[in-house]
Amino acid sequence: MTIASDKVVSIDYVLRNDDGDILDQSAPESPLSYLHGHNNLISGLEAALLGKAAGDRVEASIAPADAYGEYDANLVEQVPRQMFQGIDTIEPGMQFQAQTPQGVQVVTVREATADTVTVDGNHALAGQTLHFDVTVKDVRDASAEELSHGHAHGPGGHHH
Ligand code: ZN
Repeated sequence: MTIASDKVVSIDYVLRNDDGDILDQSAPESPLSYLHGHNNLISGLEAALLGKAAGDRVEASIAPADAYGEYDANLVEQVPRQMFQGIDTIEPGMQFQAQTPQGVQVVTVREATADTVTVDGNHALAGQTLHFDVTVKDVRDASAEELSHGHAHGPGGHHH
């Protein structure tokens, strides 16, 4: 069986940046399972896996546009320190959920002073080319329940 829309796919993967540093990887003996064609993975990786089968190894370098987007300087802004009432310590690297016109967004603190906090709404991997080394472990048909939920169930998949 080959990878196509509505298949549940299990993969081992290693994700590296341009410098070869490992950013993320599946745990040993614990592949990631996802439902193909339902935006579970970044679009560039789904495109690279389309048509592959169990046992295939796929190496793909994915540009930001097909991964987590270009880095957008407009998503960096200074907000008043008072917006963080009740939080005693704010330090660079801390993440908060912010309500925006586009919905809930995770922002990362870049800088904090007594009066202002600089927050960055870009995804941590925005602007980066991602280098994946993937081994396809299994491909199967999705259940009706998985299709209605839009994600894979079971080991490596979504748990309720
Ligand atoms: Zn579900």
